[in-house]
Amino acid sequence: MANFPPKLSREALAAAGEKAIASRRERALVKKMLADGSLNIFEAINDARDSIQRMRVRDLLDAAPGIGERRAFTIMEKAGISHSRRIAGLGAHQLRKLRDEMILNKVPINEGTLIVMSGPGGVGKSTITSHLRNHPSVLVSVSVTTREPRENEIDGRDYHFITEEKFDQMIARNEFLEWAEFAGARYGTLRKSVEDGRSIGKHVLLEIEIAGARQIRKAEPEALLVFISPPSWEDLVERLTSRGTDSPERRAARLALAEEEMACASEFDEVLVNHRVEDVAATLLSLASSRSK
Ligand code: 5GP
Repeated sequence: MANFPPKLSREALAAAGEKAIASRRERALVKKMLADGSLNIFEAINDARDSIQRMRVRDLLDAAPGIGERRAFTIMEKAGISHSRRIAGLGAHQLRKLRDEMILNKVPINEGTLIVMSGPGGVGKSTITSHLRNHPSVLVSVSVTTREPRENEIDGRDYHFITEEKFDQMIARNEFLEWAEFAGARYGTLRKSVEDGRSIGKHVLLEIEIAGARQIRKAEPEALLVFISPPSWEDLVERLTSRGTDSPERRAARLALAEEEMACASEFDEVLVNHRVEDVAATLLSLASSRSK
């Protein structure tokens, strides 16, 4: 038997209608802002709102000043983007191509901000990172490490797991923006991933320890260095000790390290207290956006 669409109640229909009107309004505003130059194409592409993500790339290009219909057509063709492609469906390769075409056509593009997030173990950095992972304006950098993968970790998603020998070769080839040793293993940030992400307007997020953050401060003085702090020392002790699987010695070592890490907070541009992950993630995004040039 055929599946009929469910009958919507009068209230549900009214709500759907209102949502559609709000979406249309948001899209119209984006087009207007593109036209008057207060928004550029990559800022629109990085806007997480559903209504914007559903816009066709073609409509964005048509709305932007100085491109024109014919050039928009050529740009899309050269970047391999089909006429009906929506923003949400753009792949990293297409975004890079689109960027190259924009540069050739002298259309301004903002570089994303490099965000460095550090803080003591157990403060919730990885939950904040997971929260930002699917945001269109953020690219979470995948580090290289010589440590063994843990259970549930996937090569290429959590880290690129490599040998000590390969790590040495990568240092020699200057492939790291920074690298450091931590708890007997080495960890490094890939220079190329950071550059590629920022060049297509993404804010690139590094979740790294403090020695690495200091190197970034030197190498990229305009980076945004954010320290995540627990609501209180007692709160952190509770989080670190409630894991339960550590020996008393290991627990003492983790607490001592956390104390050392907490003492470095003042070296960072911003200290965010992790009361609520959603709030920290939102603040990080707004700080990053106000910095991108
Ligand atoms: P874990 O082994 O628990 O994943 O990470 C240990 C520490 O290394 C954490 O503080 C983490 O933030 C840091 N880390 C992860 N990737 C990098 C990196 O690329 N560079 C530096 N300097 N630290 C990293």
